[in-house]
Amino acid sequence: AVLARRGSDPTLLLQILIETQERLAWLPPLALSRIAAALGLSHAHVEGVASFYSFLSLRPVGRYRLLFADNIIEEMQRGRTLMLDLCRKLWIEPGKLSEDHLVSVDVTSCIGMSDQGPSLLVNGMPITSLTPERIGEIATLVRDQIPLDRWPQEFFVVADNVRRRDILLSSNLEPGEALRRALAQGPDALLAEVARSGLRGRGGAGFSTARKWEFCRNAPVRESGGRVVVCNADEGEPGTFKDRVLLTLMPDHVFEGMTLAAFTLGAKHGFLYLRGEYRYLRDDLEAVLARRRREGLLGRSILGVEGFDFDIDIHLGAGAYVCGEETALIESLEGKRGVPRIRPPFPVTQGYLGRPTSVNNVETLALATLVAAHGGEAFAKVGTAQSTGTKLLSVSGDCAAPGVYEFPFGVTFSEVLAACGAERPKAVQHGGAAGITIAEREFERRVAFEDAPTAGAFMVFGPSRDMFEAARNFVRFFAHESCGFCTPCRIGTTLLRDLMQKLEAGHGSPLDLAEIERLNHLLHATSHCGLGQAAANPILDGMRKFRPAFDARMMHEDFQPAFDLDASLALARQMTGRDDALAHLTEETP
Ligand code: SF4
Repeated sequence: AVLARRGSDPTLLLQILIETQERLAWLPPLALSRIAAALGLSHAHVEGVASFYSFLSLRPVGRYRLLFADNIIEEMQRGRTLMLDLCRKLWIEPGKLSEDHLVSVDVTSCIGMSDQGPSLLVNGMPITSLTPERIGEIATLVRDQIPLDRWPQEFFVVADNVRRRDILLSSNLEPGEALRRALAQGPDALLAEVARSGLRGRGGAGFSTARKWEFCRNAPVRESGGRVVVCNADEGEPGTFKDRVLLTLMPDHVFEGMTLAAFTLGAKHGFLYLRGEYRYLRDDLEAVLARRRREGLLGRSILGVEGFDFDIDIHLGAGAYVCGEETALIESLEGKRGVPRIRPPFPVTQGYLGRPTSVNNVETLALATLVAAHGGEAFAKVGTAQSTGTKLLSVSGDCAAPGVYEFPFGVTFSEVLAACGAERPKAVQHGGAAGITIAEREFERRVAFEDAPTAGAFMVFGPSRDMFEAARNFVRFFAHESCGFCTPCRIGTTLLRDLMQKLEAGHGSPLDLAEIERLNHLLHATSHCGLGQAAANPILDGMRKFRPAFDARMMHEDFQPAFDLDASLALARQMTGRDDALAHLTEETP
C-alpha cells in the first residue's frame, strides 16, 4: 500500500521506509526487498539507508516501543531512574525486546522536550512530565495492551511554555500579509530589505541570509527542476526545542518565509525537513499547507501572479542528529544515508539533486517574514550591530520557569538567568552539546554572534550539579550520533567516551586528560564535519572551568600507569628455572 501510494521515485526511499515501519513496527528483509525492487535499487542500498537512522529498525521491536530521552537535563530530572522503574514493572531489560514481542524500552537522544521532561516517545508520540505515578500507569496500559488512541489524552499534551515574547513571538501578521507586500515591491526589493535587516541564520553559524539567497539566485541551474528552498526543522541539538514551538504556534510565518525565499530565488519547490521526533506535528502542518493552497498562498500563480508557482512538501527525518548539517540533510532528502558532503560545491550552487538550494533554519524563515512585512530597517534597530533582531532561547534545567524566551541579541547571561528564575546557577551550556560551557564568572557575556553565538539551547546547571557528568553525557551523545563516515570521528568519539567512562570509574590519570587533549587536536584537524570537530569541546571546557570535578575522578595526581614487562616475565623465568641477570629486562637490555 505504501509503494502504491508513493510510486517508484528513489528519493522517497526514506519516507517509504518510515511509512512501512509505521505499518509493520519494523523493517523485515522481505519488505526491504520489495521496496528495493519497486524503486530499482539494490537490497544492500536500501538496507544501508535503513540501518543509518536510529528510529528505523531491522530487527523486531515491541508493539509498544518506548524511547526515553537521555540528554543531560532529563538525566538530571531522573529520567533514567524512571526508565529502569518501567523496565522493572514490565519485567524487561533496557534495550531488549520482551519475549512476547509486546514491548521494548530503550533510550534515545534529546526529543526536544527538555522544558517538560522527563519525557519519552511511545510509538513516536511524545509523553512529557513523567512521574513515578505516570510510569505506573504506562506499565498498566502496556500490560493490558490498551491501544495508544485510548491512552489518557493528557499524557500527550505538549505545552508551549512561551515565557518571553518580543518582535517575533508577539507578531500577529495575517497569513499572506508579508507576501503581498513583497509581491508589490518585487524580488530585488525584497532581497534588499533582507540585506538591510542584517538577518543572519539562526542555526548557529550566523551566515547572512541575504547573501545566501543571492548566491543561490545567481547560481546557474544545470539540472531540471529549478532552485529549491529547504526549511531545516531538524533541531537535534540536545536542549533545543524553540523550533517545536514556532512550528506549533507560528507555522504560517515559517511557510511564508519559505515562499518569500522562493519568490526571491525563483524556486518552485520547497521542503520542510521535519525531525522524526516531531512527527506528531505533521498532520497539523499539512493542514496549514492545505489551507494556504486554498487561500492562493501556495501552488500555481500565487496570489494571482502569473508564473509564481511554488509548493512545499514535508519530509520526515528518522532520528539522526547529523542530518541537521545542511549537506547531510540534503542527502537525507534525496532518500540516502545522511552523510555530510564534501564542500565545495556548496548547496547554494549544487544542493538537492544538483540544483541550487537554499537551506534555512525555521527561526530564520519566520524572521524573514517579519522583515518582509515591516522592512529591514525596523528589524535592524533591534539587537546589536553584528547581531540584529532577536534570538529564541530554549531554556531548560535548574530554573523555576523553563521554556522559550525571545530576547534581543546582546542580552547577558545574567539577564536570562534572572528571567527564568535560576537560583545560584553554576554554569550554562550554551548552544547544546556542540556549544560552549559558560561559567559563573562569564555571566556578563552577551548572547550575540560577536560574543557567544548559539542555535538556541540554554541549559542551566545549579550549584550542586556535577559538570563532569554533563561533559560525559555530551560525549556519549557524540559517540552515539557520529555517522561513522570518517575514521577520526568514528573512533575518536568512542575513545573519548571510553576515557570519560574510565575517569568515572576512578581509574583515570593525568595521562588520560592529556590523551583527551591529543584526541581533540586530531578530531579538529581531520574530522569531515562539525560533529567530529566539536566532540571534545564539552570535556575541554569542563576541564578548563571545572577542573576539581575532573581531578576528583583521578586515582591520584601523580599516578603514572605503566606496564612492568620484567615483572610479567616472572612466571616464564620460574618455568624455565632461570633467574640470572640475563633473564631480566633492564634499562641496558638490548
Ligand atoms: Fe560523520 Fe563524524 Fe565524519 Fe561528521 S565528522 S562526517 S559525523 S563521522
